[in-house]
Amino acid sequence: MKKVLVATEKPFAKAAVESMKQIITAAGFEFVTLEKYKTKEELLSAVALVDGIIIRSDIIDRDVMDAAKNLKIVIRAGAGYDNIDLNAATEKGIVAMNTPGQNANAVAELIFGMLIYLIRNKYDASVGSELRNKKIGIHAYGYIGRIVALIAKGFGMKVYAHDPFVDRVLVENDGVQYEANVEDLYKKCQYISVHLPANEKTKKLLNYDLLSKMPEGATLVNTARKEIIDEAGLVKMFETRPDFRYASDITPDNNAEILEKYSQRYYCSSKKMGAQTHEANNNAGLAAANQIVNFFVKGDKSFQVNK
Ligand code: NAD
Repeated sequence: MKKVLVATEKPFAKAAVESMKQIITAAGFEFVTLEKYKTKEELLSAVALVDGIIIRSDIIDRDVMDAAKNLKIVIRAGAGYDNIDLNAATEKGIVAMNTPGQNANAVAELIFGMLIYLIRNKYDASVGSELRNKKIGIHAYGYIGRIVALIAKGFGMKVYAHDPFVDRVLVENDGVQYEANVEDLYKKCQYISVHLPANEKTKKLLNYDLLSKMPEGATLVNTARKEIIDEAGLVKMFETRPDFRYASDITPDNNAEILEKYSQRYYCSSKKMGAQTHEANNNAGLAAANQIVNFFVKGDKSFQVNK
C-alpha cells in the first residue's frame, strides 16, 4: 500500500488535514502526518518508508530525499517551490509539483491589509494617505498579481504591471497598463507589490537603484521571498528616503536593524501569513491530495515543476 506523508512544520488547518486524509485514504493509500516538528532528524525519520510527501514551506533537500528511499513524488501545497532541491529530485527520478493559484486570493487580500496599515501610519492617529486614484505597480503578473490588479481596481487605483513572460494582450485585457521596462514601473508607481519567484535570475533584483526610482510616498509590499530584495539596498532606501515604507510577509535577515531604526515605516509578519487562511489551506491541501492520488492512479504529472 502506498504511504503518503503530510510533513508540516507549520500545520494546515485541522479541517484541511481531515479532507486530505479522506481523499488519500479513499484512494486506498495510507495517510500519515508529521506536524510542528522541531528538528530535521524528525523529518528524516518520518520520510523513511513513504512514497509521497505533501509539504508547505518545509525544506526537502538532498538529505531528505536520500532518507526517503521509496519517494516518488513531493508536492508543495502552495506556489513557490524554492524549498525543494529540484536538481536532486530530478536526479533521483522524483516528481516535484506545486499547486499553482490555490492560495493566490489569500495573499492578494493580505497585501491590501498591509498596505493600508502602513500608509495610515499603523493607525497611530496621525494623517495618512489613501489608495484611490494612486498608481499601483504589479511586479510579476501571475496568479497573485492578477488578483491584486482586480482588488486595486475596486479601490479606484490605476494599475500597471511588468512581467516579460506574460503576453501584453492578456494584461491589457484585464484593464491593466503593461510596462515592458521594469524601471518604468518603479518610476511611475508610488505603490509596488512584488510577486517574483525566487530563483537565480530574480535574486536581489530589487536593489537600491531600482527602488530609488519610486516617486514620493514610495511603499513596497513584498509577499514573495526575501531573496529577491537586496537588503543593503533596502536599508539605504530607509536611510535616504524618509517617505519610504516597506511591508513584508517574509522576515529579512536584517529585520532587527530595520525595526530598531525605522519601525514606524516598516511592517513584517512574524511568520509568513500570506496563505494562512482556512480557505487557502483547504484549497492548496485538497489540490495537493488530489494531485498525489492522480499521479499514483493515472500517472498524471500535471503541475510537475522539475522536468
Ligand atoms: P505565479 O507562478 O503564478 O507567478 C509568478 C510570475 O512571475 C509569473 O507570471 C512569471 O512570469 C513572473 N516572473 C518570473 N520571473 C520574472 C521576472 N524576472 N520579472 C518579472 N516577472 C517574472 O506565482 P504566484 O502564485 O503569483 O506567486 C508569486 C510568488 O509569491 C511565488 O513565487 C511565491 O514565492 C510567493 N508566494 C508567497 C506566499 C506567502 O505566503 N507569502 C504565498 C504564495 C506565493
